[in-house]
Amino acid sequence: MVGADREDDAEVSATDGPTDSVRLRAFDPPGEQTDALLDEVGDLVAQLVTTAADRDVLGLPRGQELTTHLLDQRPPEGPEELTATLEQVREVLATGIDNAAAGELAYIPGSGLLTAALGDLVAAVANRYTGMSGFTPAAVALEQGVLRWLTEAFELPERSQGLLLSGGSNANLTAIVAAREKHAGDRADLATVYVGEHAHASVRKAARIAGVTGDHVRVCSSADGLRLDPEAVRVAIKQDVADGLRPIAIIGAAGTTNAGAIDPLPQLADLAQQLGVWFHVDAAYGGFFQLTERGRARLTGIERADSITLDPHKSLFLPFGTGALLVRERDDLAHAFAETADYLRDHSDDLDVLPDFSAITPELTREWRGLRLWLPLQLHGVAAFRDALDGALDLAEHAWRVLDEDPNLEVLGAPDLSIVTFRVRGGDAAQDAVLRRVNADGRVRLSSTVMGGRVVLRLAVLSHRTTAETVTVALELIRAAARHLDVG
Ligand SMILES: *Cc1c(COP(=O)(O)O)cnc(C)c1O
Repeated sequence: MVGADREDDAEVSATDGPTDSVRLRAFDPPGEQTDALLDEVGDLVAQLVTTAADRDVLGLPRGQELTTHLLDQRPPEGPEELTATLEQVREVLATGIDNAAAGELAYIPGSGLLTAALGDLVAAVANRYTGMSGFTPAAVALEQGVLRWLTEAFELPERSQGLLLSGGSNANLTAIVAAREKHAGDRADLATVYVGEHAHASVRKAARIAGVTGDHVRVCSSADGLRLDPEAVRVAIKQDVADGLRPIAIIGAAGTTNAGAIDPLPQLADLAQQLGVWFHVDAAYGGFFQLTERGRARLTGIERADSITLDPHKSLFLPFGTGALLVRERDDLAHAFAETADYLRDHSDDLDVLPDFSAITPELTREWRGLRLWLPLQLHGVAAFRDALDGALDLAEHAWRVLDEDPNLEVLGAPDLSIVTFRVRGGDAAQDAVLRRVNADGRVRLSSTVMGGRVVLRLAVLSHRTTAETVTVALELIRAAARHLDVG
């Protein structure tokens, strides 16, 4: 479709003058204009996809001129010409950090599958309303089918329900609200939650938004410096119960953002069960490793959670804007989010098997997110995702071994999943110097964090585009920078 049709484009655009491609005069343009529009956008998209593996992570410097131009830009009164308009988009995309490039090894890498984006395009243009199943049952069924596949992958019972939300932060928030409704009722002021010192900031933020304020978010220590210590949680809960507070949830991490570490999920599940509180697992980064044999073994215990946060826009390589929450008991969602409205009376939902997403989430009108998951899963097959995630585990293990053997580096334990943490010899300033040096190369990008009061460097493998060559480049740059420090 793209590239080959360039000649046709020229013919279509000839009607608008020799230098014009297309100016859209109607919101729903006539057929040949729609084709030209899709072809030109298709060219841009195809170029993004075909160059992604080779692009540097570090784009052109954030041009002050471009920023100023865009800030001062106001929409035109009449239609702009298409090619020139898209050229502006290309200019924007040439700058800044390209976190969809293969060399992105910082934070939690994203990638952005074309097939998911195409699903989005179709869903957005069709614009079916999927907040209530009665409107377009088959579209909801398509989404519910994917969600069932997810709840089954985590061995959750029949009564469980999955949700597609905008990201992990909203998934954590949705879970904490459900837990609060269940265990604190209208006494949010008494509610307490228990998180590890390496819990993602979104968990604390979610608790705060849910009305669990101040020190009622109990940050519990980790016995090994990495993983939440169940004993610390037990002690804290006992004390809070004695003080008349209402513990609502223990929140474990299945892959911390700092180090990819997995909290002791079986022990946390035991504890939550004994003490009658909600067990939420934040698996936004690590959850989809469940699709692999090694990941499934390491995530044992996650199947006992009351809710699980997943981020398809991380470990399922989808474009940003896709989080997921799996909840063991669907009634807990209905209790937390069901409302009625006078103007929502004239639809029938005779299909009990399908969920009304508006009644079990904070949203009313929502994107039809199902298609963005369904289409890639259909077109690539589950094995492709499993293999890519297995590959990420292999590459992280390889990186860990290579770094571990380097006398200039100190590696902080074998990775639970696909994040390797390490330090070069020297203090925090040395870590920052190495990070700057590696990232200045532009081909790969690492990030840093603070653990145990010290700056630690991180190499996170997650993008489906990251290959052995990418990791080799990163390792060579790291080792060279560490050597350089030693000498200098
Ligand atoms: C990324 C992340 C989140 C937040 O998810 P968003 O999709 O960025 O909102 C929560 N928890 C963990 C462990 C994460 O890695």
